[in-house]
Amino acid sequence: MLTIDKFVYTAHPARVIFGSGTTGQLPEEVERLGARRALVLSTAPQRRQAEAIAALLGETAAGLFTGAVMHTPVDVSERATALAREIGADVVVSIGGGSTTGLGKAIALRTDLPQIVLPTTYAGSEMTPILGETADGVKRTQTTPKVLPEVVIYDVDQTLDLPSGISGTSGVNAIAHAVEALYARERNPVISALALEAIGALYQALPEIAREPRNLAARTGALYGAWLCGICLGSVGMALHHKLCHTLGGSFDLPHAETHTIVLPHALAYNAPSIPDVMQRLETVLGGEPSRALYGLSGRIGAPAGLGTLGMPEEGIEKATTLALANAYWNPRSLERDAIRDLIARAHAGAPPLS
Ligand code: NAD
Repeated sequence: MLTIDKFVYTAHPARVIFGSGTTGQLPEEVERLGARRALVLSTAPQRRQAEAIAALLGETAAGLFTGAVMHTPVDVSERATALAREIGADVVVSIGGGSTTGLGKAIALRTDLPQIVLPTTYAGSEMTPILGETADGVKRTQTTPKVLPEVVIYDVDQTLDLPSGISGTSGVNAIAHAVEALYARERNPVISALALEAIGALYQALPEIAREPRNLAARTGALYGAWLCGICLGSVGMALHHKLCHTLGGSFDLPHAETHTIVLPHALAYNAPSIPDVMQRLETVLGGEPSRALYGLSGRIGAPAGLGTLGMPEEGIEKATTLALANAYWNPRSLERDAIRDLIARAHAGAPPLS
C-alpha cells in the first residue's frame, strides 16, 4: 500500500495546451489575454521558427527579438526589455528552449508582461518560477512567481527538428529533475506520481527519438514527460545530483545537459541505500535496477561516455569532491568524502555506476 505522510503541495497556475499542431491556437491565446502587441523572442538559430510565429500573429506581432543566448545575460535582457517598452508590447511570446524562455522570464520580471511560451526542448524552464541571470560572469538564481509564464503551448511539431544528440541529453536532464523530486525534502505524493509518469514516458521515448528523430509518437511522449519534469523542478528542491552538476559545470565549463546525463546514474546509485522505497518504484518504471537502467539509457541515446570526454581534467576529481562537500545542502544520504570522490571518478571515466 502507498504510504502517505503529511505534505504541502504548491501548484503553479499556468494554462497548458498540448499536442501536435497546437501552435495554431496561439492567436486566440493572445486574444484571451486581452493582448494586441506581441514581442516574439527566439535565439538566432531559431529565427525561422520565430518568423513563422510572427507571420501567424499578423498585425499582433509588434516586434521580433532573436538575440536570446544561454545563461540569460543581463545586458541581453535589458536590450530586449527596452525593445518591449519601445514597441508598447503587452505580451511576450517565447519560442525555443531554456535560453529563450529565460529571456522571456527576465522581461516579465522587469515589466510584469504576461508570457506565452512554446517550448522546443525538454529543459522545462517554462514550468518553474526560477530565473538564473548572468552578470559579469556570475550567475545568480532567484525564485519568484513574477517570472511564471501564463500560457504554455506544447506543440510537438516544434520539437521535431531538435537535433537527436541534444534531444537525448536534454531529455535525460529532464529525467534528473523527476528522479531528484522523488527523494526531495519537500517530496509529496502528487509530485511523485508526476515524476514516475514522466520518467516512464521519457525512458521509452528517448531511444526511439535517437533512432528516428521525427517519430511523432516518441516526440509526443518525450514532450509530455518533459512537461511533467518541469513541474517537478518547479515544485520541490533538488539534491546531490543537481549540486554536483552545477559544481562540475561551473568549475570545468562543461555542457549542462551532457553533464546531467553522465552524472545521474552515479548520483542515484550513491543515494540508493537511503531511498529503498524510491528505488523500488523506479525499478517498476524502468524495468531493472534503476541506476544501471539510466546508465544503459545514456548509451542508447549516444551520449558522451564520461566527464573526461567532455574535457574535465583528471586532476579535477579532487577539486570537484571538495566543492561538492562545501556548503551544506539537503540530500537523503549524508555526504561521505570517499564515496563522493569515487562517484565523481566513475563519472569521469564513464564507468558503470556502483549499484
Ligand atoms: P537552449 O535553449 O540554449 O537551446 C540549445 C540550442 O538548441 C539553441 O541553439 C537553440 O536555438 C536550439 N534549439 C532549441 N530547440 C530547437 C529545435 N526544436 N530545433 C532546432 N534547434 C533548437 O537549451 P536548453 O537546454 O533548452 O536551455 C538551457 C538553458 O535553460 C540554460 O541556461 C539553463 O540554465 C536554463 N534552464 C532554466 C531552467 C529554469 O527553471 N529556470 C530550467 C531548465 C533550464
